[in-house]
Amino acid sequence: MDKWRMTFDLHTHTCLVRNGKVITHAVSTMEEVVLSAREKGLKKIGISNHGPGHVTYGLPLESVADLKKERDRLQTLYGDIEILIGVEANIINRSGLLDVRPEELAQFDYILAGYHYGIFGEQPVGAAVLHGRNWIWETTGRRMRNPGLRSDNTQRMVEAIMKNRPLAVTHPGDKAPTDIEAVARACEETGTWMEINNFHKDLTVENLKLAAKFDVKFVIGSDAHKPERVGCFEEGLKRLLEAGVDPERVVNLERM
Ligand SMILES: [Zn+2]
Ligand SMILES: [Zn+2]
Repeated sequence: MDKWRMTFDLHTHTCLVRNGKVITHAVSTMEEVVLSAREKGLKKIGISNHGPGHVTYGLPLESVADLKKERDRLQTLYGDIEILIGVEANIINRSGLLDVRPEELAQFDYILAGYHYGIFGEQPVGAAVLHGRNWIWETTGRRMRNPGLRSDNTQRMVEAIMKNRPLAVTHPGDKAPTDIEAVARACEETGTWMEINNFHKDLTVENLKLAAKFDVKFVIGSDAHKPERVGCFEEGLKRLLEAGVDPERVVNLERM
């Protein structure tokens, strides 16, 4: 059987301290992430903290300059790996706008977009109700059928993809019932990669099979919150193979 290795990882979180306060939820420093990525033989590493709208661990846009300064320092020290500063922006609004506004997107080297609880956006009350219903769906084993909820989540994700054209949509289907075929269609149209998250269970095997019917590319993201998890892709690859999808369709896998 072929063996595969990961060539880059664009989904990692770091610990940020601003004005003496810890503002993100990961434990790794950027340097630890970079060192771990080099150890794993990656050619490129991306730091993608949560978008600014997340109430508990959103990245204040004022700290992007600090991140870039640290990136530049590390890039001088470690010339054998490319270091990028991205963001995992939050999908929440019916309008399709992320919590990083269109005019702010260019500050980042790349944009990931995903759905999370903890973001309230343009209609806070509606968002709180949506999260609550999704949370019940997720915590009761994803069995509940709720077509209205599913279409509401799907519409938000599709709008966000069409309007913002992120590089990738993170863990689609996680935390909320979602029509993966509709999301895959939007990804096909915009060239957006669909993430197979190595930490969360989405894309699931079942949803990978549905997404693979469309002309889309996949990317595996470690979603590492600790240095040792950077560059981990084995769980994602396992699901991909189980779904019968060709690993050649994953942009960051290479045959060994
Ligand atoms: Zn996420
Ligand atoms: Zn993440």
